[in-house]
Amino acid sequence: MNHSTVCFALDIETNLVKIGCTSACPHVWIAGIAKIWHQRGKFPDRFRLVGVIPCDDKLELKRELHTRFAKWHQGHEWFDPVREIRLLISSETRGHACNECMNPSASENQMLSDQASAAVARALRGL
Ligand SMILES: [Zn+2]
Repeated sequence: MNHSTVCFALDIETNLVKIGCTSACPHVWIAGIAKIWHQRGKFPDRFRLVGVIPCDDKLELKRELHTRFAKWHQGHEWFDPVREIRLLISSETRGHACNECMNPSASENQMLSDQASAAVARALRGL
């Protein structure tokens, strides 16, 4: 699965938005930011994933967005969440859920488990 995404994270403490990118699950990316800040004595749960843009070339798109919002750049990958940035997040990003960050529902799990049991039973009959 291609996970190449540009990701937007809100720091609820500073009210800045990070525009970064990752090939991993964006929630893993968030956890990575949190870990770095946690090591500096900050709270890890202050970061929220507010949107992602799946893309082919994440570095290219990130560069483009950093250039477009350069006026509001606050250092590293952080930006002042001006109207233009909030609009982009509202209109051009989507949410994210994958098997790494969200478990299947209990009913799906039951179905998968039943299918696995049936497959084992068929295999045993075939012996
Ligand atoms: Zn995920």
